[in-house]
Amino acid sequence: MPALLEIRDLKKHYPLRRRLFGRGGGTAKALDGVSLSIGQGETFAVVGESGSGKTTLGKTILRLIEPTSGSVQFEGREITGLGANELRRLRTDMQIVFQDPYGSLDPRWTIGQTLEEPLRTHLRLSDEDAKGRIERMLEVVGLSKQHASRYPHELSGGQRQRVGIARALITEPKFVVLDEPVSALDVSIQAQILKLMQELQSRLSLTYLFVSHDLSVVRYISDRVGVMYLGKMVETGPTAELFERPLHPYTRALISAIPEADPAKRRERITLSGEVPSPRNPPSGCAFHTRCPMARPECRSVIPEWRQVSENRSVACHLYNEESRDES
Ligand code: SF4
Repeated sequence: MPALLEIRDLKKHYPLRRRLFGRGGGTAKALDGVSLSIGQGETFAVVGESGSGKTTLGKTILRLIEPTSGSVQFEGREITGLGANELRRLRTDMQIVFQDPYGSLDPRWTIGQTLEEPLRTHLRLSDEDAKGRIERMLEVVGLSKQHASRYPHELSGGQRQRVGIARALITEPKFVVLDEPVSALDVSIQAQILKLMQELQSRLSLTYLFVSHDLSVVRYISDRVGVMYLGKMVETGPTAELFERPLHPYTRALISAIPEADPAKRRERITLSGEVPSPRNPPSGCAFHTRCPMARPECRSVIPEWRQVSENRSVACHLYNEESRDES
């Protein structure tokens, strides 16, 4: 599968303001050196708890957040240094669907006006062509052209998310970041929206970065998964393999918490102690060592390297150092 996106050592560090009282200064490492390759037509899911950096990763790839350093190549072209005009052109190819379908729509605009806005901003279509494209796109996402004259408050949550998807797809992008696209919806509606996104992917040859904290959804929708913790990628692999045989202790804990109907497949629950530490003051060495049930003395001081441990699996954990791999 040829790569559509190549991300190398991507960082987003925020300087912290000094406070008059107490500690301050330094940097918060929201994204701390993520490297990743996403293939054409693939759904790559990024999972992790709140504060892991997964949403920052999606927005930094799109340059909705400016990276501190690192490289993002889209179709072989470096995009981190593009100016405003080139970036506007790139927006037709790279789009985002947000989590909150209500909050992301302007309540004063009709659905037609909402869908017209990206066409006016990014493409110079005649009024007639724009109207035709809006009506077609409403039908593609399972709405009707009558919805163009409605306001967001007149639609259900599922219909609003269909509008969010239509707005992202109306410029005919190649790559879409789906940022927790179903987590604000009822479970019955979630399934419809996930199915719609799968259908649209094959129909329109889309590549997805699917950001989610919900591993059941990720298992259903993605081809490959990346697990993030405190701004770093800690494990990547094909979805089925990663769920079957998670390598990193954090991934094992996340997967052990998924409700499993089949008793034969149930895993022993691994409970992590404490909360995710603040990215303002991350632990030394392996950032997961304060919660890791398998931590060793070296984990407190030595940052584990990112290692490829098989053809398509990579992990950052001292358990998989060359000399200790047999022990894991
Ligand atoms: Fe746990 Fe150590 Fe591996 Fe970090 S490096 S996940 S602390 S075993």
